[in-house]
Amino acid sequence: MEIGVMFWAGRDDLAEIKSLGVSCGQLGIRGSAGLTPEFSKKWKDAMAREQFRVATVVCAYEGEDYADIPAVQKTVGFIPSSTRAERERRTREVSDFAASLGVEGIACHIGFVPDDRSDGDYIAVRDIVRRICDHAASQGQTFALETGQEPADVLLRFINDTGRGNLKINFDPANMVLYGTGDPIEALELLAPHVVSAHAKDGDWPPRAIPGALGMERPLGEGAVGIPRFIEALKRHGYGGTVNVEREISDQRQRLEDIRRAVTLLRSYL
Ligand code: MG
Repeated sequence: MEIGVMFWAGRDDLAEIKSLGVSCGQLGIRGSAGLTPEFSKKWKDAMAREQFRVATVVCAYEGEDYADIPAVQKTVGFIPSSTRAERERRTREVSDFAASLGVEGIACHIGFVPDDRSDGDYIAVRDIVRRICDHAASQGQTFALETGQEPADVLLRFINDTGRGNLKINFDPANMVLYGTGDPIEALELLAPHVVSAHAKDGDWPPRAIPGALGMERPLGEGAVGIPRFIEALKRHGYGGTVNVEREISDQRQRLEDIRRAVTLLRSYL
């Protein structure tokens, strides 16, 4: 198990991320980023200069809104039908960008997977995921779905239905809490064989009084996840991938400080 950081092109500088005490992580790409040869060379050079390993390129899309659960349902991943084709094309492009850096995994939020397997959205999303898996496999990559927006059993059934060996999970324990989809450790017990990467993030359960609200993200160790038991569960399953500290607040100075502390905290549990 190796500690890393989830960081973003256009927001973070690789030397600054490395100064937080890590030498691996996951590189996030916003939908607005132009994936030109120059952009690719810039990141490739930075990785070589800092001797930094990028385990995953994480793909986000233009027009996504994480304000509350209804906004996520309407805008995130492959569920909104009006942007489906464009986002499928973009994900292939991100896979090609990752391949140009020698990165062996891509990941994204595909959105809320419907419960009903005969639902038109379920079938459309399953077919997109199959095509993206096949594209990623042709470059020796895994394609990981991030947890949180559906219960573990729904995600597991979706993975089995999709039937692609390189379809994996990027396990984010805080999302399970923030979306109120289930206890993250119980979810991990079910999903562990498919987990290829993990996020170390923390948060509180959604407030019951406000329907559709998400829980509040917290600095690592201060939320409801129970980070020590999460690390224990990863160890118990013999997990050998990266555990990437993720902090999503807008105050950049505070965010970097929180990540630095989280890296130290994680190190004490490993
Ligand atoms: Mg995450």
